[in-house]
Amino acid sequence: MKVCKFGGSSLADAGQLTKVIDIVLADPQRRIVVVSAPGKRNKNDTKVTDLLIALAKCALDGKNTASALDAVVARYAEIAKSLDLGDEIVQSIRDDLQARLAQVPKDGGDAGGFMDLLKAAGEDNNAKLVTIAFQKRGKKARYASPKETGMVLEGESGNATLDPESYKKLSRAFADFAGIVVYPGFFGYRADGSVATFPRGGSDITGSILAAAVRADVYENFTDVDSVYPVDPRLVPEVKTGIDTMTYREMRELSYAGFGVFNDEAIFPAVQARIPINVRNTNHPSEPGTMIVQTRRVMPGTVTGIAAANGFTNIIIDKYLMNRQIGFTRKLLSIFEEEGVSYEHSPSGIDSISVIVRSERFDPALEKRTVARIKRELNPDSVIVSHDYAIVMVVGEGMCYSAGMLARATTALARAGINISMVNQGASEVSFMLGIRSADHDRAVRALYEAFFGE
Ligand code: ASP
Repeated sequence: MKVCKFGGSSLADAGQLTKVIDIVLADPQRRIVVVSAPGKRNKNDTKVTDLLIALAKCALDGKNTASALDAVVARYAEIAKSLDLGDEIVQSIRDDLQARLAQVPKDGGDAGGFMDLLKAAGEDNNAKLVTIAFQKRGKKARYASPKETGMVLEGESGNATLDPESYKKLSRAFADFAGIVVYPGFFGYRADGSVATFPRGGSDITGSILAAAVRADVYENFTDVDSVYPVDPRLVPEVKTGIDTMTYREMRELSYAGFGVFNDEAIFPAVQARIPINVRNTNHPSEPGTMIVQTRRVMPGTVTGIAAANGFTNIIIDKYLMNRQIGFTRKLLSIFEEEGVSYEHSPSGIDSISVIVRSERFDPALEKRTVARIKRELNPDSVIVSHDYAIVMVVGEGMCYSAGMLARATTALARAGINISMVNQGASEVSFMLGIRSADHDRAVRALYEAFFGE
């Protein structure tokens, strides 16, 4: 059995929804269909989820919600009209939204919970509409409710996570139905019955959870690209050949450095259950896409992908004879821990150590406090904070045991006049990481692409 998830751009209008139905009907293995809310129809459009957020804000501010409500309903009405699905579904969507709005909290109530209730309406109503569209095509299809099937979530509103106990019920939830199950992504229910949503983009998480729960043969994630590319096509537009197969580990390493196609945390349930993930394009369904699997055969000496991310801060601490001081690193990292800062990397030399953090989680006040504590508690010779730091990752299972991979990278960067301020390679040898200045980010990616994928 296949679990397939369709993102917002795949369901943005009637034309896209028709493609989705054709894709599902083309393969009887495609039994569970996870849907997002309708996304953008063009660059300047607004996703239904964002329209719902605006609607919720309106209600929370005590403003008139009529036009914000109409804007949401209009998106579904347009699809229903084009596909001749009838007025009943549109009216039921309007009624559903009104019932949700009636639950607006009074002063001091749970605004986060209300926001989740409204956001969830996007996928919930879309799943109902998509079910009708399947039925209209003469297929046996049913909408499955996250509440009845046991998608129990916990944690912060807008950032909820799955209660792992959910798997027991979810794994049995679809056993007795022979048709197509349409399941809304992005949300679930708390033990007290209230709605909770995953982080934005969370329909990927729902699909991944269901694939794991039913032990699917594959989790197909339909989006708007033909495959995962070895480098960001916005930086290297001439990249044409996508990656046909990659491992979970490679995906994880690349998405760490900002590889956009997948959020690595989103696919964790499928990865854990070792379900192969197939990234495919709704607009080009004949393309095989990219398979993401546990293990694959590799060509020695090859790189799978290159990614780079800006937005790091490097705190460099120097202290003569640091290597002889027992507990120096522990004390240093304790300061970061106590200040609530998660550190990303900590490369070290004999008398120096760097702590690299994400700048967005290290605001100026926090930086000042942390540096003051390092100076006071560790008495270093110097502490230098370098902002605008970027990390470049070169990733490939094929790099293991191959001599000269790092040399090729450093030579390419040297030729481009780019200074490397840190080199880090984990014991797995599946990737190495280079620290550079943010200003060199784009040029570094291009230089490395040419070194490993050029003619
Ligand atoms: N509709 C939600 C969002 O826009 C979730 C999703 O599409 O995955 O974030």
